[in-house]
Amino acid sequence: MTTPTMRAARFCRADGRLRVAEVPVPQPGPSDVLVRVEACGICLSDVHMIDGTLDCPLEEVTPGHEPAGTIARVGAEVPYWQPGRRVVIAPGRACGSCRHCGDVQGCLAPQTMGQNWDGAWAQYVVTPFQTLVEVPDGVPIEQAAICADAVATPFSGIVERGGLRPGERAGVWGVGGLGVHAVQIARLAGASLVVAVDPLDSARRRALEAGADHAFDPTATDVPEQVRRLTDGEGLDLTAELSGAGSALAQAVSCLGRYGRAVMIGMSPQPIHLTENTILFGYFNHSVLGHDGYTRRHLTQLMRLLAAGRLDLSRSVSEVLPLEEITRGVERLRTKAGDPVRLVVRP
Ligand SMILES: [Zn+2]
Ligand SMILES: [Zn+2]
Repeated sequence: MTTPTMRAARFCRADGRLRVAEVPVPQPGPSDVLVRVEACGICLSDVHMIDGTLDCPLEEVTPGHEPAGTIARVGAEVPYWQPGRRVVIAPGRACGSCRHCGDVQGCLAPQTMGQNWDGAWAQYVVTPFQTLVEVPDGVPIEQAAICADAVATPFSGIVERGGLRPGERAGVWGVGGLGVHAVQIARLAGASLVVAVDPLDSARRRALEAGADHAFDPTATDVPEQVRRLTDGEGLDLTAELSGAGSALAQAVSCLGRYGRAVMIGMSPQPIHLTENTILFGYFNHSVLGHDGYTRRHLTQLMRLLAAGRLDLSRSVSEVLPLEEITRGVERLRTKAGDPVRLVVRP
């Protein structure tokens, strides 16, 4: 019997290249599910793994950690799930060997699909059943897919980590593929003011369309001064920083009011430098909160918001590409040609 094969984009660490190749279809273990991938987003962290900024733990791997599709096969011990169900996948799993292992939130060394094991820039992907969330009828599969990172990460950062409450005043620094959703989520969570900050004119326009009340260019405007003007001198309750730029985080912190929280969602190897002096930081009870990931519950909540029409992601998928054009997609995201929100591959 010949092993069935599929097409997958393989990243090789040694030469830093990405190639589409014919590889065996992965086999699900007893508590895994095999999913036929119908859409998978291209994330900046994929770009960074390919350009070497982010370490790739494997010699060779199929990237892709923002997948949705249809269940093709289930392992012998998988409850509930059946072939034919449409699913979106939360791309984290527990390491399987630490003393707190069992669930991905408890695990000391959680792993990510597309980095620690083969991801979804392929026709099929294997994932533990605990990572699955059902996609409601009527929700486009591309929109479900991008929720797995580009929407769920800022959702969890703002609502859970930052604890944004109705009536609070919020700011979003960096209105790219995640930031535009941060603006929408801040509105949805009941912020009474949403300020967006981005040096790109197209990003500021997008922020205003997504529900920001004001959008500022940090290279042309005194942003802290504008924030004080808009808040009767009180400052913001919550800021979310998504660009990874140290200067943006420092500015976000300088716009905080009393008990203000700055959630750091964007990542970069730059050191954290806050321009604010420690007396002000302590006196105003400021916090800076690192943030990564989300729980499966957040993905479920996003599916409900989409199905109910409360959250509109119809403008978030900038292009859908075939697998053969994955390299062009990665390059387009790297150069930000046409300022895409999210590029999605359909293998
Ligand atoms: Zn990502
Ligand atoms: Zn573990």
